Amino acid sequence: KSGFITVVGRPNVGKSTLINHLMGAKLSIVSNKPQTTRKNMNAIYTDDDAQIIFVDTPGIHKAKNKLGEYMVHVAKESLSQVDLVIFITTASGEIHPGDALILEELKGLKTPKFLLVNKIDEFTQDRVAKTLELYGKAAEFDEIIPISALKGKNTEDILALVKKYL
Ligand code: GDP
Ligand code: MG
Repeated sequence: KSGFITVVGRPNVGKSTLINHLMGAKLSIVSNKPQTTRKNMNAIYTDDDAQIIFVDTPGIHKAKNKLGEYMVHVAKESLSQVDLVIFITTASGEIHPGDALILEELKGLKTPKFLLVNKIDEFTQDRVAKTLELYGKAAEFDEIIPISALKGKNTEDILALVKKYL
């Protein structure tokens, strides 16, 4: 099995930490390739039955200028051109205003999509539950997983779930 996966989410939600964590399990090649003006991290994961390319996107946000508009356009386009979208947010207990645009995009998207609610080590169980409920209603996710990318909580199942969709 093989496929492209794009990892989207606002800055600091833990995209890079998650990718590093998933990559850490196996021998891997990590490359930093400059794209337009920002660095996108593309990580190639290989094991006995899969090759997966993780694309760490710069995010989807309100553009401030032409360059920003172009980058947001590229990020949106990529959502329909990959095999799976992993959307990451944090378990704060409410829908973060910075997630509104991406949730709108995900709503109409046919590409399989996962919701990862990260940093569950930092928030109460109530907040985690509330976050799962609110985001789960905001778009139709194929899988919803509360995790701690930093502590490696619930992360062990992600790759197996990902392979189901490739
Ligand atoms: P990115 O901007 O989405 O790539 O986020 P990073 O992976 O760079 O993480 C941003 C910050 O959040 C870093 O200081 C990470 O150590 C921290 N972080 C990431 N995942 C977790 C988590 O599960 N729990 C906690 N407490 N911190 C985390
Ligand atoms: Mg990052």
